[in-house]
Amino acid sequence: MPSDLDEVQVQPVALERLAGLLGSDRAQRFARTAETARVRLAGRRVINVNSTATGGGVAELLQTLLAYARGADIDARWIVIEGDARFFEITKRIHNHLYGTAGDGGPLGDAERRHYEEITLRNVARLRRVLAAGDLVVLHDPQTAALTRHLTVPDVKVVWRCHVGIDTPNQYSERGWAFLRTYLDNLDAYVFSRAQFAPAWVPADRLAVIAPSIDPFSAKNEPMDGTQVMRVLRHVGILDGNDVRPAVSFPRRDGSRGIVERSVDLLGTGPAPSDVPIVLQASRWDVMKDMRGVMIGFAESIAPHTDAHLVLTGPATSGVADDPEADDVLHACLDTWSRLPDTVRSRIHLVCVPMTDPDEAASIVNALQRHAAVVVQKSLAEGFGLTVTEAMWKSRPVVGSRVGGIVDQIIPDHTGSLVDPTSLDEYARAVRALLADPEQAQQMGTAAHDRARDNFIGDRHLEQWAQLLERLA
Ligand code: UDP
Repeated sequence: MPSDLDEVQVQPVALERLAGLLGSDRAQRFARTAETARVRLAGRRVINVNSTATGGGVAELLQTLLAYARGADIDARWIVIEGDARFFEITKRIHNHLYGTAGDGGPLGDAERRHYEEITLRNVARLRRVLAAGDLVVLHDPQTAALTRHLTVPDVKVVWRCHVGIDTPNQYSERGWAFLRTYLDNLDAYVFSRAQFAPAWVPADRLAVIAPSIDPFSAKNEPMDGTQVMRVLRHVGILDGNDVRPAVSFPRRDGSRGIVERSVDLLGTGPAPSDVPIVLQASRWDVMKDMRGVMIGFAESIAPHTDAHLVLTGPATSGVADDPEADDVLHACLDTWSRLPDTVRSRIHLVCVPMTDPDEAASIVNALQRHAAVVVQKSLAEGFGLTVTEAMWKSRPVVGSRVGGIVDQIIPDHTGSLVDPTSLDEYARAVRALLADPEQAQQMGTAAHDRARDNFIGDRHLEQWAQLLERLA
């Protein structure tokens, strides 16, 4: 692609790989969908644009979706726009507003709009050199919304894919939408993870609801046996105990395999014991993920009644280009942690996983999710929450907040528990119940895996995108 915009190289993955998990009817249907898409989208490129290549759910799902789309011979691309600190501060404010929260409380006035548009214009100049007639452009999230105004190349279709939202609008979400709406009139299609997230002005006939999916074969989700899990977690320093056996390998997105070598950054306490149940939340360091609430609830109402340890893990804060608040959130967590009584503090482990090699990082998160007795996703708001499907795929029972896309994934009392996002008590009780009854936890885990396989892997996801793009083409 002749451009100075960053294009993320995504290696195609053969659809047959996925077919093995689907059963024959579903696999045949998937093959037919791919064949139809190949024919109908021939000669067209599908150009995805977002603002970070690593860290967070959007980067994660683009990697998955594009690998399979390319495996189906669809010319799907992924380019990353650039912004400065102020741009990402503004877009994070909008993002927080769309989640119904005040965020940093800063303004969204003329000065912010001017800066947002100025940075957009710089990206437009570069994007224009890339675009050609016939392209189908998929812009992701608030960071890319203003690009829509400038993509007036003949026969280019523009889709805006929004990954965030709340079920019931409030003053903040209205403010966020008021800022963005001017860029979003009259697009060819709008895609949301849930119908409830779409503002009322999105035309019903151009709205598509498409939930994300995971790749069961990526470094984040590929099978690992118990021995490999322990070796990875000991090697990177999350669990105690020496392990001198050879290191564990992981699949890279370019098709090669690497070896888990890097250590994680374990803040405060040392490693967790290898023989205690682990409660895990793996999230970006974002206020909305409420890592601090997870910690306080654990300290007050889980630790005193169990022998479990808590691991809170997130990407190293330098690893997510478009998330300026991560450092502050991590430091707030550390501050709370440092004030806890010694006995509890030593049972809470804050982990930053370096993102230098995203596949190695993914393999570490994979091992952690597999090792956890209970996975938590106590978000205050959530677009979808890939971490929930990731844990379900690994047959883990999940305690998740009753918000946004988490509700679409967890079936309460069957695959996990749904709790009031603001109730530390409810969350703690749900975790304690699962820790106290490992048999029930295992049954829920098994049901969770089936649900993830039936609903949240790539065939369903690709079929929905194929339908939409074929209609536009
Ligand atoms: N994640 C990660 N490293 C971490 C913590 C989380 O790679 O230390 C990943 C996690 O596995 C998931 C993604 O970040 O794939 C988060 O996606 P999700 O949809 O849950 O939330 P988002 O970050 O998009 O708000």
